[in-house]
Amino acid sequence: MLQVPARIGGRPVGAAEWIEVRSPYDGTPVGRVPALTAAHVAEACTAAAAVLARRDFPQHARAEVLERAAGLLTERTEEFAVTVAREAGKPIADARGETARCADTLRFAAVEARKLAGEMIPMDASRAAAGRLGLAVRHPAGVVAAITPFNFPLNLVAHKIGPAIAAGCPVVLKPAELTPISAIRLVDLLVEAGLPEDWISVVTGTGPATGEPLVEHPVPAVVSFTGSVAVGRRIQRAAAGKRVLLELGSNAPVIIEAAADLERAVAAVRRGGFSYAGQSCVSTQRVLAHRSVYGAVLDGLRGAAGTLRLGDPLDGRTEVGPLISAAATARVAGWLDAARRAGAEVTGGEVHGTLITPAVVADPPRHLDVYRGEVFGPVITVTPYADLDEAIALANASDFRLQAGIFTPDLGAALRAANDLDFGGVLINEVPTFRADQQPYGGSGAAGNTREGPAYAINEMTELRFVSVSA
Ligand code: NAD
Repeated sequence: MLQVPARIGGRPVGAAEWIEVRSPYDGTPVGRVPALTAAHVAEACTAAAAVLARRDFPQHARAEVLERAAGLLTERTEEFAVTVAREAGKPIADARGETARCADTLRFAAVEARKLAGEMIPMDASRAAAGRLGLAVRHPAGVVAAITPFNFPLNLVAHKIGPAIAAGCPVVLKPAELTPISAIRLVDLLVEAGLPEDWISVVTGTGPATGEPLVEHPVPAVVSFTGSVAVGRRIQRAAAGKRVLLELGSNAPVIIEAAADLERAVAAVRRGGFSYAGQSCVSTQRVLAHRSVYGAVLDGLRGAAGTLRLGDPLDGRTEVGPLISAAATARVAGWLDAARRAGAEVTGGEVHGTLITPAVVADPPRHLDVYRGEVFGPVITVTPYADLDEAIALANASDFRLQAGIFTPDLGAALRAANDLDFGGVLINEVPTFRADQQPYGGSGAAGNTREGPAYAINEMTELRFVSVSA
């Protein structure tokens, strides 16, 4: 099996034990990466601290690296997309889309690297300060520990290391153990584009053996984590005293109003609920339909779910690939069984290996996992509501406040939703699954505590230093 070394302080490293990375679709080997330990993590952190102390990587050089890397990635889209499709089981068309977005994320980070600035403080505005020049200047907050999930193994890594490079923060990256190869290749590409070799270390391994020592190590000042709520909470406790940035899960709602264009809404939910087998943090999960159109929406979605093409992620016609593991497949199948046992009508949801046919659950009891939890599978629920007040209350009745959507032609309803839906993003005439890489993206409650998008992530990775100049 192809051995893909990790990287510490610019050196390729192996280990006594290796983790096999296999396609979640058919188990074919993709490669193996070293299972690194706390000692490796400590070495990577020490190297990063030394890089930070050098202060020799100016803004223009950081921007140039990011620009060059975006160009190289664009040239090599196919190679990267195939790696994503193989290790994450993401349909190749979506994997190409992720690769193109990743290049954009690097470009946006490059723009921010050029723009990174502070502000003038009007010292004359107070009697006590008058006569001085005041500046607030942005400085790197320190070494960034970046911990990433399996589901966007390229673009979500770029959303951490792009801003960190722009901000001037060295990085120790711990990619998901199920999908580490895309991340290693991306860092190799950044080095090829001119990133100083020791600027980023990639420590591969499991959460407990590699992630935990990274979070607990005294060197990282910032821990930037994207992943599940349970792990996020653990990290928050373990990283006391550090700046902890969390991007966690959701069970994103979308409201479909009576006067909405139903065909458009159904087509959007088909994409937003089932793409990549629902393994996106903003996968559309809870469809709330006005009761006058509930039957039409339910029928439309059942029909649409049945038209999705399942299968091999490397086949360009595949729309829904496998879930990431047998365990994930069993969990989602169990949640659907519980819904059936509770009397909810479930269409789809058949299991074939790690594939699950897209499932639509009609009006399930609201205490069920398929409604209250984060399914992270190709499953949507459809719930009727009486009026917009009720729809907004249903949407808001969740701890996961990441993104929500509404389909309506009524400007008043749209503005009401924009104001009253308590989420990090409100998408009007769009599913909540939509994300532009330059937008502020993130949520509150169980969904996290920060915003990504290069401009916003850089804010979190820098500190303001006030400088007063007197003659
Ligand atoms: P996960 O929480 O299982 O793992 C994420 C990362 O954390 C992995 O690298 C893992 O090895 C590491 N980890 C696990 N235990 C750890 C520990 N104790 N200390 C330090 N690191 C540890 O998540 P996953 O299954 O890879 O990804 C799916 C989850 O990610 C879903 O909940 C999804 O909603 C969420 N997600 C959120 C966003 C967002 O931007 N809000 C984006 C994508 C995915």
